[in-house]
Amino acid sequence: MIQNTEKYRKFGLKLTPQRLAILRYLDGNKSHPSAEDIYNAVSKEFTTMSFATVYNTLEVLREKGILRELKIEPGKKRYDPDTTPHHHLICIKCKKLIDIYKRFKLTLPEDIAREFEILGNHIEFYGVCPECKQRNSQ
Ligand code: ZN
Ligand code: MN
Repeated sequence: MIQNTEKYRKFGLKLTPQRLAILRYLDGNKSHPSAEDIYNAVSKEFTTMSFATVYNTLEVLREKGILRELKIEPGKKRYDPDTTPHHHLICIKCKKLIDIYKRFKLTLPEDIAREFEILGNHIEFYGVCPECKQRNSQ
């Protein structure tokens, strides 16, 4: 993580100890945590850290392109520190999110694309995960 501080400085990010703690928690994190999850984890170390600080930091990180914001559940944003192009598999029961690193051939017909220069896409696959499926059948 310390070796990553240079990377974050390049984004023009002021690195306070609180911000570093949030970045450390997110580094390599695959759980797609919500702001509440991040606050619960980081405030154990920084007991004076407020939820507003966590939320504001996440907003800054998102603006700088360090974090991707996912709106999976209404009113509950989740964050993905992996900003490389990928898709998601989502369990509608337990809300678990799994990364899908696969390219899908998607072409948008000209009349729909409306001369947009298409830069990317994000597909969300919804379903019930094996654990939830088993729980339901018990
Ligand atoms: Zn599930
Ligand atoms: Mn992801």
